[in-house]
Amino acid sequence: MNDAITFSRSVISTHSSQCCVDVRSWIEARDDADQIIGSASLPTGWLQDIYEWGPSAWPFYWCDLASTKEMDCGVFADIAQILLERRGYLCARIQIVESALPAQTKFWAEKWSSSDRDSSSWILDDGRVYHEALAVIVDNELLFFDPTEHLAVGSPHSTGGSPTQIRLTEPLHGREVYWGNTKLTLGQWTQVDKTS
Ligand SMILES: [Zn+2]
Repeated sequence: MNDAITFSRSVISTHSSQCCVDVRSWIEARDDADQIIGSASLPTGWLQDIYEWGPSAWPFYWCDLASTKEMDCGVFADIAQILLERRGYLCARIQIVESALPAQTKFWAEKWSSSDRDSSSWILDDGRVYHEALAVIVDNELLFFDPTEHLAVGSPHSTGGSPTQIRLTEPLHGREVYWGNTKLTLGQWTQVDKTS
């Protein structure tokens, strides 16, 4: 089953012209403003004020952020990592397989198929979906952070699924990464319990 999940973590592309530089500068400036007026505990929550979770067309460019109100979990994760690292947080990207109810996957499949963007390949079957998030060090503690919902991964407040497998895609600055008692091995899909 694990071998079938071959997605790479999502990375936003940059045009060689000024369009993407300008939009990225705007995103960073907006985040700088949030550092002054917003909560310091879990940054990047302002993204939810502007963007809703929804289909994104890939490759996704920085300048696409100027013309869309929706972005998928890969866009949320890439932007959040960039902004968190600008703020000095240590973080690494994670990929997740989540279990979901058939009613959820049906609803999401309809939402994606009604869009002209991308495919619904992230819906693995009627009970499992692919998701992207972050492992972040906050106050010297490891937090599995879902920037799409601005919640901890697996939070009871999440409207998504429950993590069943996690893959750490890059080292977390030399730190060992545990989901509960389960150690995540770099680059490998690891079966996890529901709670961290
Ligand atoms: Zn561009």
